[in-house]
Amino acid sequence: MGEFELIERFFSRPVQRAALGVGDDCALLRLEPGMQLATSSDLLVEGRHFLSTVAPERLGHKALAVNLSDLAACGARPLAFTLSLSLPRAEPGWLEAFAGGLLALADAHGCELVGGDTTRGPLVINITVYGEVPPGAALLRSGARAGDELWVSGVLGDARLALEAFRGTVSLPGEHFERARRAMELPTPRVALGMALRGIASSAIDLSDGLIGDLGHVLRRSGVGATLWADALPHSALLAGQPERWRRECSLAGGDDYELLFCAPAHRHAEVQAAAAQAGVPVTRVGRVEAEPGLRIVDAQDRLLDLGLAAFDHFHHG
Ligand code: ADP
Ligand code: MG
Repeated sequence: MGEFELIERFFSRPVQRAALGVGDDCALLRLEPGMQLATSSDLLVEGRHFLSTVAPERLGHKALAVNLSDLAACGARPLAFTLSLSLPRAEPGWLEAFAGGLLALADAHGCELVGGDTTRGPLVINITVYGEVPPGAALLRSGARAGDELWVSGVLGDARLALEAFRGTVSLPGEHFERARRAMELPTPRVALGMALRGIASSAIDLSDGLIGDLGHVLRRSGVGATLWADALPHSALLAGQPERWRRECSLAGGDDYELLFCAPAHRHAEVQAAAAQAGVPVTRVGRVEAEPGLRIVDAQDRLLDLGLAAFDHFHHG
């Protein structure tokens, strides 16, 4: 199968919303008048961002999910995306499954595949997403203010638990392993929540590298500090069964959660809850933003914890 047959067979579909999709030199997007274009790009490399054991359908889902998660963190509505693929070989079964997982999630969010690039090489996937947001409405990392409440969506830490099970550092019974693995391989981008938080949240980020590290980005960009309540962090029943130290490590420094971490003024507490209910996503208050720089992590008795946890950083972890 040649490059063009591959593109035609797996990645060309009639566009619904865009003016022009796959097949020409450029795609043409139709923007609502006056809206701002939000764009974000993520690169996924085999062995670094995903394991070779992942099913292609799930890999397709995750490659788009991590990009939609960035739009969600800005409060943007997804419009379209491009897909650049480096593939060791053109394997129809693999491509069919990969495209299936990818396009199912795309359809669920009304986000169209409008172009890309395809080449032979090691397995690498790059997606660039495009979305729209009203001017001034995007949720930024820089908006947190002292006095804001700190929130997270969903539960944290299951993806990290799965990674550790793959590494052999924890052992999970089969059915628990499958649940953790789903969290790692099939993250849910919180697009509806991000949009519902426009005008309510002061700041937001999606959790890709672990709560401590990603919160650190928000605090530095906003010029504030925070107290984080370690024992208030939402976790699944799966993680609840793990020793405390391990539970904290996974939820505070896990990575690959793709939940939203956001700040909102205290007087908007009820509006945050209403937005979460509207989006159908549970949210939990996990701390408070303060004027004093730095991050203080405390337990349920308000004792300061020194956990020695670091955020995931590709260049620090070899
Ligand atoms: P060019 O030579 O202009 O880069 P290509 O021959 O690479 O164009 O691609 C032909 C068309 O197929 C373009 O419209 C491009 O956007 C699209 N395309 C290439 N690879 C992919 C892919 N993996 N997914 C979707 N569209 C793709
Ligand atoms: Mg090309």
